[in-house]
Amino acid sequence: MSNEIKCPLYKKCGGCQIQNLNYDKQLEFKMKKVVKLVGRFHRVDDIIGMENPYHYRNKVQAAFGRDRQNRIISGVYQSSTHRIVPVDSCLIEDKKADEIIVTIRGLLKSFKLKPFDDVKMTGFLRHVLVKRGFSSGEIMVVLVTGSEEFRSRRSFINALLSRHPEITTIVQNINSRRTSLVLGEKSIVLYGSGVISEQLCGFTFTISPKAFYQINPVQTEILYGKAMEFAAIRDDEIVIDAYCGTGTIGIIASKNAGRVIGVELNRDAIKDAKRNARLNSVGNIDFVCADAGEYMVGIAEQGLKADVVIMDPPRAGSDVKFLKSVVRLSPSRIVYISCNPETLARDLLFLSKNNYKVRKIQPVDMFPHTEHIETVVLLTRKAPANAPARLSKHPQKRK
Ligand code: SAH
Repeated sequence: MSNEIKCPLYKKCGGCQIQNLNYDKQLEFKMKKVVKLVGRFHRVDDIIGMENPYHYRNKVQAAFGRDRQNRIISGVYQSSTHRIVPVDSCLIEDKKADEIIVTIRGLLKSFKLKPFDDVKMTGFLRHVLVKRGFSSGEIMVVLVTGSEEFRSRRSFINALLSRHPEITTIVQNINSRRTSLVLGEKSIVLYGSGVISEQLCGFTFTISPKAFYQINPVQTEILYGKAMEFAAIRDDEIVIDAYCGTGTIGIIASKNAGRVIGVELNRDAIKDAKRNARLNSVGNIDFVCADAGEYMVGIAEQGLKADVVIMDPPRAGSDVKFLKSVVRLSPSRIVYISCNPETLARDLLFLSKNNYKVRKIQPVDMFPHTEHIETVVLLTRKAPANAPARLSKHPQKRK
């Protein structure tokens, strides 16, 4: 069945792989995929879809360049190429963010500023990144430039603000390298505080230009709500928030927990996490900058205990070191938040063979029209903690 709303760029852009299906069919497609991959561990609850599955993205990114007629264009890279597909509006992106990007494109011309040419490595504007706090209403614009020099900077900012007074902060990020990464190392705050805030599950979080933050705030509340329901944390319990990013899940969990420890590899994210804990006056949480697996091995060796492990790894899933140490630490519950059902299936197989049983599987549609699937899973320990569990091999290692 085809979708009633169609994007003219559907084929060229490649971002919304399943937009040809209407939304009910998309949910069916995702549900089937989860059942196929992890249904053997437990019954899968019905996927939670969005009431309004459009314009949900709170972070919008546009690359700048020129078309064959030498006109300035902005948009997305065609999948697996370096060609820019011009985009003025997108069905899944925040509308205001799209409008701001179109305004900036117009201003470039009137200010005689050039888009960056990443073959010749000349020109000015490479990318624009807009982040919007849906509940706070705050908007951050990041102008990614090839060098620090910004001609007519003040008047450019004033012109942008006069057209979009709703912008609360503007940051210039300098990326002079030949790289496919959008953001460079250095950022200069041009207007406002350089960050925006957002409310989630009753807490306030600061979002900086580089930090990871879930891109669908409406569904994130639902996803984290499910994670908390599954974790059912009591006020004397110790919780580990592994792969914690900027600390969102751990801070939300801290409300019910005795103590929370967040572990994350990215130093900038840890800084943000600590700031978020202070901002919310949360006193029972600590953040550690470390490889989650190594940290867990360390605390297991010290004979420490945790009651609940919440894990939210990247698409590649977890690793054998981490999973083995979780089994050794032997929490009574594990809540696994996954953005890739394939690696989830692999990791659940390991945990099911090592003293854990899958009790709940809940897919949540965080990315309507795309093929991506988010799933939250509850596992509980089968035998008591002091009955030593024999580790079986991780499926990855069998290859
Ligand atoms: N739980 C967070 C972030 C999840 S994204 C949230 O919901 O906002 C996954 C995070 O895992 C990223 O922040 C990434 O930096 C981190 N990460 C990746 N590999 C890691 C590892 N080996 N150890 C610890 N953290 C890791």
